[in-house]
Amino acid sequence: MLKLNNHNNNNHNNQKLENFIDEDLIIKTLEATKDCSREWAKRIVARALEMEGLNFFEVSCLLNCDDPEVLEDIFAAARQIKDKIYGDRIVMFAPLYISNLCGNECLYCAFRATNKELARRALTQEEIEREVKNLVDQGHKRVLMVAGESYPHEGFEYVLKSIDTVYKVQSGNGSIRRVNVNIAPLEVEEFRQLKEKGIGTFQLFQETYHVPTYEKMHTGGKKKNFLWRLYAMDRAFQAGIDDVGIGVLFGLYDYKYEILALMQHIKHLEDEFGVGPHTISVPRLEPADGSSVSVEPPFPVTDEQFKKIVAILRIAVPYTGIIMSTRETPKIRRETFAVGVSQISAGSRTNPGGYSVDDFEEHSSQFSLGDHRALDEVINDLVTMKYIPSFCTACYRLGRTGHDFMDMAKPGDIKYHCSLNALSTLLEYLNDYASPRTKEAGEKLIREKLDASDDEKWKTIASEMLEQVKSGKRDCFI
Ligand code: SAM
Ligand code: SF4
Repeated sequence: MLKLNNHNNNNHNNQKLENFIDEDLIIKTLEATKDCSREWAKRIVARALEMEGLNFFEVSCLLNCDDPEVLEDIFAAARQIKDKIYGDRIVMFAPLYISNLCGNECLYCAFRATNKELARRALTQEEIEREVKNLVDQGHKRVLMVAGESYPHEGFEYVLKSIDTVYKVQSGNGSIRRVNVNIAPLEVEEFRQLKEKGIGTFQLFQETYHVPTYEKMHTGGKKKNFLWRLYAMDRAFQAGIDDVGIGVLFGLYDYKYEILALMQHIKHLEDEFGVGPHTISVPRLEPADGSSVSVEPPFPVTDEQFKKIVAILRIAVPYTGIIMSTRETPKIRRETFAVGVSQISAGSRTNPGGYSVDDFEEHSSQFSLGDHRALDEVINDLVTMKYIPSFCTACYRLGRTGHDFMDMAKPGDIKYHCSLNALSTLLEYLNDYASPRTKEAGEKLIREKLDASDDEKWKTIASEMLEQVKSGKRDCFI
């Protein structure tokens, strides 16, 4: 295993770290597969149905294939795999922006240091408490803590304190049971401290794996250092964090290049640590205040391409969760649930303090949203489409992370557990927070799901868990 030094781009032997993204190989493979035939592509899709994932070369073939018949096959395979592994559940979360202070210059982001128009704010612990109470009172159980790369006077301690604050809030029957974190890359020791706080997943997006584009887009601050960011997940693993989430900011560079680079990042983590990422996020560039790059992305990704990206990822890395945020519109979100998305945010605000004010503070947000609906509306929509919105946080609390999660996910066990936990946490939501119309639709869906199952053991456990929730017990999971 590579041991990484802090502060510089050297390993423990003081040798320079290498960029494990092989640009040359990506370009050559894309070139070699550009005339992928329909038969060839269909054979790859058929192999994907074995659910063992796809290799780099196969992914490249599919990325290059725009044949509508093959695309339909890819979507159908993605639907089938999604259903087999994840069933009909969609895990819910909300971002929690604690600070928009930032010392970096990412040309696409409203939080960048030189954006003087932005109202800067780092929430106090009392303000965080108020935000969390608002989220809990909506029904959320899982948050993604987000911050710019500059902390108030306490430094990194601010993040650690904020996590404690989130976990401490109890309101009515609810609390936040899992805090995932999306903050700037840390040193190994800081990652260790983060793990001690009981975080779920550490998320970090490389933004672009294409070095010249990375350099063009990141003109100031610590984030300029491509390798420091690229090796962040290695440092997280070394600190014992084994649930990591990676991602690309689509729109900065050619999506085909980015997906193949993502595959190389996954392979690197598998080779080094024996396990790949827990999740992949697929943010697309959204307009951000004063950022021309964000308004006119250099490599815009169309809705059709976006759907294809999600479906290819689903079949290429079947056991990795795919996260979609409220950057996307309700329509796109609906279309991509079926082909692979397994986690979504809802009712989001991207400005620190956004859940505690009635008026949306335009001038402190990171970017504009595509889906402005409240959590209850999103839940209603999902239930109407026969998806089970899940507020489950069981896995990491039972230590099912990293290898253990993958071992369990592979034989399909995760679907068994997840579907039960999804039903019980949905019923909690319906009883404690839902509007009357959502409650009615949700309860009907739960009855339908029970009736539709022919697995007697599953039905018995589900009925017992639901009875417990009905009689007032909370946080029932297996
Ligand atoms: N500051 C940390 C960092 O950059 O890694 C973490 C938080 S940052 C607020 C989270 C993510 O927001 C970034 O990784 C980037 O992908 C995304 N982002 C920034 N500007 C965006 C925009 N205009 N549209 C969509 N996503 C954006
Ligand atoms: Fe700062 Fe992150 Fe925005 Fe870059 S993306 S300006 S690092 S908050």
